[in-house]
Amino acid sequence: MASALRAFIVSASVGLAACGAWAGGPEDSLTEALRARDPVIRQLIDDNPGIEEGWQEPFWREALLDAPRLPGSPWRIHDLARPQPPRVAPAACPRPRGLRLAASDWTGENLALWSQAGGELVPSGHTANRIATRESFGDVELSLEFRMPDPPVGVFQQRGNSGIFFQQRYEVQILDSYRNPTYPDGQMGALYGQVPPRANASRPPGEWQCLAIRYRAARFAGDGTLIAAPRASVILNGITLQDDEAFLGPTAFAAIGPWRAHPERLPIVLQDHGDAGGRIRFRNIRVRELAAR
Ligand code: MG
Repeated sequence: MASALRAFIVSASVGLAACGAWAGGPEDSLTEALRARDPVIRQLIDDNPGIEEGWQEPFWREALLDAPRLPGSPWRIHDLARPQPPRVAPAACPRPRGLRLAASDWTGENLALWSQAGGELVPSGHTANRIATRESFGDVELSLEFRMPDPPVGVFQQRGNSGIFFQQRYEVQILDSYRNPTYPDGQMGALYGQVPPRANASRPPGEWQCLAIRYRAARFAGDGTLIAAPRASVILNGITLQDDEAFLGPTAFAAIGPWRAHPERLPIVLQDHGDAGGRIRFRNIRVRELAAR
């Protein structure tokens, strides 16, 4: 269960910070190390005062300086030198399709701590309180609306962070990416830690936004061999952020998890990242199973 649990908390910054507060001086601060590493990162830091508040926990040092390279890519996982996705004006939301999930369609040890008033679903603000659909899904379309806290609270990965874990382990990232730069593979619509979105089509905090994902499930042979990597297309506010992109493995933090065989049909998990200061709101969550191949 340890690896499964890790998959759930991978983009949660709390929970990994067990090694105490980092007490380095200015000469060896992570911010200075990042500024020295690459002119693009230096510019990002200079253009975004306060961004360093996002990497104060000790585990960020390794994640932002020493994460492995992505396979077949010049970039590291969580690479801040990678170009920020271009901003694109949001367009019209497509008409939502599929079966609307009611509160009773979700389960979780601490589901009761999520607010479910007025047809909205609001995370509890505690990292461990992820929830999952009662039903299991393989190939599926999921659509929902979400609204980021206004005014925004926190920066970097601590602003409106949530995410949808398909098959319980492959995360499409949800984040307030409106004027909130972070590593591109952790922005709104990223296949977290693996594939950055092609664009930033985020609306400002306080406005409802629409997200639609078409997901094709990971498949394994009877001997545990991977037959098909999971793939996702992601459309935010009418703009394509991912076009049938493949996951490279299970979602992890500063790593890519190893493939491990699992059932094709599994619950969809909604992340509670623990950003208690400002909570994202969800509504109109719909699922539509895709026909078998
Ligand atoms: Mg997340």
